[in-house]
Amino acid sequence: MPRAVRGELDLMSNCFILWVMDVLNEAELRTCFKHDDDVWFPDLSAIEWADLDFLGWVHPSGHLGYIATLSPNDGRLRGVVLRRFERPTRRVRLDMCSLCNHVHSSGGTAMFTITEAGSRGRRSISNVVCGDLACSLRIRNKLNPSSLMQETLYLEAKVWRILLHLHRWLTRTKYI
Ligand SMILES: [Zn+2]
Repeated sequence: MPRAVRGELDLMSNCFILWVMDVLNEAELRTCFKHDDDVWFPDLSAIEWADLDFLGWVHPSGHLGYIATLSPNDGRLRGVVLRRFERPTRRVRLDMCSLCNHVHSSGGTAMFTITEAGSRGRRSISNVVCGDLACSLRIRNKLNPSSLMQETLYLEAKVWRILLHLHRWLTRTKYI
């Protein structure tokens, strides 16, 4: 079912605020994935939807991740399954998430791979992202530890940056 991107004009700041994620149930989420996708769903009742720019979660086994987001082109919900690879933590290393720019010490990130739609597995694009896909909560300072790189950007700019990076990734893999 088409889902329009909604927003409101905030008269205090004179900005148009985009409401990105709506409260979704499991049946609605399932419809945005392909029928043969291996999708596992978390407990959706525990999610604070107002804090999300996109919904991301990880399979309990750790080998798959999932992202559900609204397409900026038509406002419809899209779901994508990502292969997830742990990063070796043999040495101390700082890693920056390519979606939210949060800087982690060793172990906070994972490599996520999206296979290009329609390529039959021949083409894929990988990125280093927060290992739990909880970027939305990190930019709102809802998770510890905080980033090892301090930024003075305001929240709306961080939201814009997350969605820009995510939409670019999903465009290049032909999901939106
Ligand atoms: Zn992140």
